[in-house]
Amino acid sequence: SDTNEPARDEEKPPPLAGPNVMNVILVAAECAPFSKTGGLGDVADALLKALAPRGHRVMVVVPRYAEYEEAKDVGVRKRYKVDGQDMEVMYFHAYIDGVDFVFIDSPVFRHLSVCYGDHGLMKYTRSVLVIHNIAHQGRGPVDDFSYVDLPGHYLDSFKLYDPVGGEHFNIFAAGLKAADRVLTVSHGYSWEVKTLEGGWGLHNIISENDWKFRGIVNGIDTKEWNPKSDIHLHSDDYTNYSLETLHIGKPQCKAALQRELGLPVRPDVPLIGFIGRLDHQKGVDLIAEAVPWMMSQDVQLVMLGTGRPDLEEVLRRMEHHDRDKARGWVGFSVRTAHRITAGADVLLMPSRFEPCGLNQLYAMKYGTVPVVHAVGGLRDTVQQFDPYSETGLGWTFDSAEAGKLIHALGNCLLTYREYKESWEGLQRRGMTQDLSWDNAAEKYEEVLVAAKYHW
Ligand code: ADP
Repeated sequence: SDTNEPARDEEKPPPLAGPNVMNVILVAAECAPFSKTGGLGDVADALLKALAPRGHRVMVVVPRYAEYEEAKDVGVRKRYKVDGQDMEVMYFHAYIDGVDFVFIDSPVFRHLSVCYGDHGLMKYTRSVLVIHNIAHQGRGPVDDFSYVDLPGHYLDSFKLYDPVGGEHFNIFAAGLKAADRVLTVSHGYSWEVKTLEGGWGLHNIISENDWKFRGIVNGIDTKEWNPKSDIHLHSDDYTNYSLETLHIGKPQCKAALQRELGLPVRPDVPLIGFIGRLDHQKGVDLIAEAVPWMMSQDVQLVMLGTGRPDLEEVLRRMEHHDRDKARGWVGFSVRTAHRITAGADVLLMPSRFEPCGLNQLYAMKYGTVPVVHAVGGLRDTVQQFDPYSETGLGWTFDSAEAGKLIHALGNCLLTYREYKESWEGLQRRGMTQDLSWDNAAEKYEEVLVAAKYHW
């Protein structure tokens, strides 16, 4: 419909890697669309799709959580000690869009690259550990070492002492020591994990390995998450839109969302969205605390998430506050996530910590203005709006407190209501950023090359 548009980041062919073409094996706990509980699945998928067209041979190794139609049993059987038991492990394979997918039909966590060193296998293989969230470490009692089926001299790498867990077994600690390079998914987070508060017991090891560290902000998949082509907006009610059609397309999506959720269809009321795992990290309790204030305003609030039962209950009770103003949707629905991103005016992310955060990036791409706690990747990616210079991308607040959230959101709502041009400027700046993986993939390459030559 808008063929006159200039080509944008998602249409450019990716630059080739040149002489540094590598064999890259990406090992992850999940990879979309096969498996996804949060951002990691999206990032694994998008990173390999960005690396492959640059000329690298890319393989991804992930657990086989379910039967995937595309993946065929390769017939190889291996026996490993898994959780203390001798288990047969099966391998499934699919070749999709130039990428080899290997699905392991058993827990994969024994496959740290240190396993191979002693046998001379993969001797020249370098490893880069990417920290997506240091709160999830793989902790257990020291005896768990016997389960990983490694020679005894590796025990020390896995041992960690901290005041909370005492002496314990820690897979992440071993990974940090063994890796040739370590990446975090934003600059801010790379600094935060070195602090007592942000390191979750690993800050000392991280500081010792400081030279290995670098932060690279995640890109987004600009095919999946693009208001111009988003398949979840292909319906009679919703519509695709671009910067040029924003003023028609976005209100249509907003009306469709309001209708779908049974909220009054009103173009003028600011629609505030939240999407995410319901846990302490995401600051859902701060939103809950701010709900009475929000309900005193002329707004609509829509929340989507799954997680902690008490926070799910908060979502279930939401619409009792005011049926015309609030909806809570407990469930994991990719389609609804896309539709909220398109239909909302404002996206809330009051995360206590946030390694990168994808939802604020998706939001900006859809002309939805983020209001975030300035931490980790949120601080890196959402620059505070300045009404004097008409710069910035959203609103930030500097500590995880409901009062601060309310203050920032209050300023945001004021701008939405009173300063239409400023609002459009915020939307335009958000939508025209290059958030694609091309940038990030080039930086990943630099790190892989550095690891390869062990600088
Ligand atoms: P995290 O990885 O910490 O969960 P991110 O912001 O990096 O947070 O990524 C979250 C991803 O998970 C996004 O793609 C978001 O849309 C998706 N997501 C989270 N909760 C839900 C849900 N209930 N339904 C659909 N998608 C969800």
